[in-house]
Amino acid sequence: MKKITISQPSLSKKQINSVVEVLKSGHIVEGSVVIKLENELSTYCKAKHVVAVNSGTAALHCALYAAGVGPGDEVITTPFSFVATANPILFMGAKVVFADINDNDYNLDPTLVETKITKKTKAIIGVDLYGQPANYDKLRFNESITLIEDACQAIGSSVSGRKAGNLADIGTFSFYATKNIMCGEGGAVVTNSDEFDVKSRRLRNHGQDASKRYQYFDIGYNYRLTDILAAIALPQIGKIDSITNTRQIRANRYIENLKEVSSIVLPTVDSHVSHCFHQFTINLSDSFPVSRDKLITIFNKHNIFPGIYYPNPLHLQPQFKKFGYHQGDFPKAENVSKRVISLPVHPKVSLKEIDKISEIIIKISKGNK
Ligand SMILES: *Cc1c(COP(=O)(O)O)cnc(C)c1O
Repeated sequence: MKKITISQPSLSKKQINSVVEVLKSGHIVEGSVVIKLENELSTYCKAKHVVAVNSGTAALHCALYAAGVGPGDEVITTPFSFVATANPILFMGAKVVFADINDNDYNLDPTLVETKITKKTKAIIGVDLYGQPANYDKLRFNESITLIEDACQAIGSSVSGRKAGNLADIGTFSFYATKNIMCGEGGAVVTNSDEFDVKSRRLRNHGQDASKRYQYFDIGYNYRLTDILAAIALPQIGKIDSITNTRQIRANRYIENLKEVSSIVLPTVDSHVSHCFHQFTINLSDSFPVSRDKLITIFNKHNIFPGIYYPNPLHLQPQFKKFGYHQGDFPKAENVSKRVISLPVHPKVSLKEIDKISEIIIKISKGNK
């Protein structure tokens, strides 16, 4: 029986051939393919600048550096995300300030963010969890706070036609193997600010500016993306909308199949949002007849492997707990982390397989195991 996993990279002949071309060209780093990738992405996002880097984590580090975050500053973000959203705040020596989420879209609740703002607040990082953009219009409080969009899961999403990644002052993408657009490891910074562009490029390349090699303006890292990997991502840029559409068809099939199941909460999407469905995540109510662990065991018996994003809220992890966080501080994040389960929604899952997965949930919801 075929294994149905939570993600599966899809590599076309064209992508494989373009890697071989780069290898033969002699320009395997700092060549034209990375520049092409940056240009195509900036056209796609209608953003002035894109800086390609070697991970989403590096992109977030660049964003915080560009925003001028440092020791003594506070950065507000969500405790319900991948750890790479919050770790770069620690790289900059700043304080991580969490605020709780909405339980309808699992993203930062702007009214709760507002209560956390102090004179030390330097930036806010919103996360487009599962691909659904956070509410950046409501997360903008004043000019001196840089608004950062962690769009690592959201490439292809949009809000009223504005592309995810370009919804705040500076945005970040990841091209990790499981993401909608991927090259194994990679990422990008997106911004309309010339200053943020220069600073991101500086941090990416040892603190140097492009025109002044061997002159170091600041501490820097090696966050450069190779042309070998950029060659894998590049052919996917032109396909972002069709990949998104393929995922939306699968998500809508789940919604149609499962709409009568009252013991689960399905994703809700605002009418002005196009959701790229990096994940299709349902939430099990108390009335769902079996535990999440038991549901996963049943799925596994059918060779279906769902995911849990994320089982442990960040404020209870050691590196953030030290700021004085406790169990009970963010009840919504803590509650949903025990209930969410993400079902396979990637282009390689067939609609027939989605019907089978749905059927298993419907059967269990009726008390048949
Ligand atoms: C994947 C991801 C990251 C980190 O990206 P890497 O490329 O793995 O470093 C950051 N934030 C979120 C929300 C992600 O999903």
